[in-house]
Amino acid sequence: MDTFLNDIKEIHIVEDAKRLLFGAFVSETDIVQRALDLASVAHKGQKRKSGEPYIIHPILVAAITALISGDEVMVASALLHDVVEDTHYELEDIERDFGVDVVHIVGGLTKIVEIRDEKLIPSVSGDRLINSALSFRKMLIASIKDVRVLVIKLCDRLHNMLTLDALSSAKQKRIAEETLVVYAPIAHRLGISRLKNELEDLSFYYIYPNDYAMIDTYIKSNKQNLQFRLNALIQKVENMMHIDGFHRDSFEIFGRVKHYYSIYLKMHRKGVSIEEVLDLLAIRIIVKEPIQCYRVLGLLHLGCTPLISRFKDYVALPKENGYQTIHTTLFDDDGIVESQIRTTEMHKLAEYGIAAHWKYKEGGSKVHLDWLEGLNYQNESVEEFYELAKSDLFSEDIAVFSPKADYYTLPKNSVALDFAYLIHSEIGETASSALINKKKSSLLTILKMEILSRL
Ligand code: MN
Repeated sequence: MDTFLNDIKEIHIVEDAKRLLFGAFVSETDIVQRALDLASVAHKGQKRKSGEPYIIHPILVAAITALISGDEVMVASALLHDVVEDTHYELEDIERDFGVDVVHIVGGLTKIVEIRDEKLIPSVSGDRLINSALSFRKMLIASIKDVRVLVIKLCDRLHNMLTLDALSSAKQKRIAEETLVVYAPIAHRLGISRLKNELEDLSFYYIYPNDYAMIDTYIKSNKQNLQFRLNALIQKVENMMHIDGFHRDSFEIFGRVKHYYSIYLKMHRKGVSIEEVLDLLAIRIIVKEPIQCYRVLGLLHLGCTPLISRFKDYVALPKENGYQTIHTTLFDDDGIVESQIRTTEMHKLAEYGIAAHWKYKEGGSKVHLDWLEGLNYQNESVEEFYELAKSDLFSEDIAVFSPKADYYTLPKNSVALDFAYLIHSEIGETASSALINKKKSSLLTILKMEILSRL
């Protein structure tokens, strides 16, 4: 875990919480100080389940918000986020003291609680929980138009996840499932990978403690070897870049073990054990200019063997949320290593997503995003994951190519007709036979790695 979040987990007294809040990411401005004062008075005497003073929670949510956004209106709103819900203060009080911007955000955060109570069935069977969580997510996205509200809500949820130990195990699991189905996908869509990865790993820890422990044990007992592989590759790339004329201070390279939940998903998707997951490692090369991404790419592909089917150029073709990075996968002696190449600017956007706009003061303070609506019916990996976990049918995937070399994955034992439906339901409905590797075949032919076209 991130050291900042680790610090947060260790904080149990109010003074430490305040010190962290004002430590690195926000200054003691008038509005932040007043919000802190009001929240302290409002929550006075209230305790969290852990027995700690309640005010620690909003202060630390504000600290995470400060890390993510650096925006004082958002930090003040984070300090006040539970005031209307949990104390006798009303939105009018907030508006009088803090103005329309803050009251608008606090109002939005209070509304989330209302939607949740209406949409979420409390602790029931797995299926219904997932369904109600999905409809909760839909409502949430549809009704919360100010993205700042969502960002603060994610920070709130992250702090709750960090302090879940105080709750009963049934509650831990329910909150973790909600986090995985509702909040992690929102963080993903907003492009805030720093929040998304932590939310996923914390949820994973509570939902599947045994699988988490197994991955954790494996990674820890192989730490030396993994670190050695990372260092060797980083050294090699550094050398290649120096020889090519990159100045020592003009780039940075980081190595890491991928986050646990992504390793777990890979094991499930491919039906393999952790020993068989080849790409546990990733490196990231950060350069100054977009064109340099391609020079580095050239060096990597010429100097190491790339697994070319995994190559993705999101620099030339950014994702919908603005994400830009070149992804390529390289072979090393023991497996493969995912390599990402991006500029400093792209890196900020990849880590902080939409929040980068406030953090780095680019663009206005109020952002309304139409594309967020698209989240409504997007198929997110979380539902897929639940499907995967429930059924062995999906334990292995096959890759199928269209004649244009588009790449599709299907569960093992899928037939040509499944492929047709995957392309489009209309094609599935009207297909009469298929061409598999240019040979006419029945729609019920079981597919291997093949090239398919419609007859
Ligand atoms: Mn809260």
